[in-house]
Amino acid sequence: MPIPDHLQLQLAQWQSWRLAGGYRGRYAPSPTGVLHLGNLQTALLSWLQARQAGGVWLLRIDDLDTPRNGPGAVEAIQADLRWMGLYWDGVPILQSTRRGVYNSWLSWLRRSGQLFPCRCSRRELSGVLRYPGTCRDGRGGWGWRDRRLPSWRLKVPIDDPDASGDVVVRRADGFIAYQLATVIDELCFGISDVVRGDDLRAALPAQRSLFRALSQRPPRFHHGPLRCDALGKKLSKREASAGLAPLREQGLDAADVVGSLAAGLGLVPVGSRLSAAELLQGLTHDAIRAAYS
Ligand code: GLU
Repeated sequence: MPIPDHLQLQLAQWQSWRLAGGYRGRYAPSPTGVLHLGNLQTALLSWLQARQAGGVWLLRIDDLDTPRNGPGAVEAIQADLRWMGLYWDGVPILQSTRRGVYNSWLSWLRRSGQLFPCRCSRRELSGVLRYPGTCRDGRGGWGWRDRRLPSWRLKVPIDDPDASGDVVVRRADGFIAYQLATVIDELCFGISDVVRGDDLRAALPAQRSLFRALSQRPPRFHHGPLRCDALGKKLSKREASAGLAPLREQGLDAADVVGSLAAGLGLVPVGSRLSAAELLQGLTHDAIRAAYS
């Protein structure tokens, strides 16, 4: 079933960007709280890579899961990025303002027979690596049952090279799933390169399956290193959830923080102090690539 005109139009701008061939990146934090140093390290890497390529860098706020949104977090994220000198292009894209777009793609996927309703609970699927196809035959039904609605999953073909399993695109609580929203947004905003933390590598097969279901070519994906504390553990949200505020209170300025994050990426020696703009000067594509290894 072909993609209808009103949805094709949403991709028209994107296709012209793609034809132009430039780099278009984005940074897409979830506003569950303030950015911690691990988030900021990824933001820095994403910004550096886009600017080094002479490209565009967009800020997208993944605020669909409203109960998880922290008060004031959207503003705090922008203030922290500006404080670090990481300026984005255009206005921030709030996913919460784009629900109509996601829903129109969702209903096309449904009408083209690529989705099925699923009643499996999280408990039933715990420990299962790949969705076993329990509700694929349509037994779930789409209406209310036991005061619950189903989730909706993409029927991923058995021969899908990414073997992601049947991806949830709408959750049982009615929220559009992150996987669908992010894929639609990469397409609508013509993103050529996604830079994000290594913790999201696991989301890649599901997203590739969705790009395939929409017959669209995915962007290039880059997963940056997670920031480690002195013990080499991944920095947990709780440990570092205070973000930049305590560092500022200790008297550290943006040059200290950028220096520390850049050192974490292996771009400068430990103890360096420099602005994001200074760091960008003289930084080569190869040096940025090396940050991923
Ligand atoms: N909003 C997601 C997160 O902060 C990241 C999305 C992405 O970069 O694909 O975990």
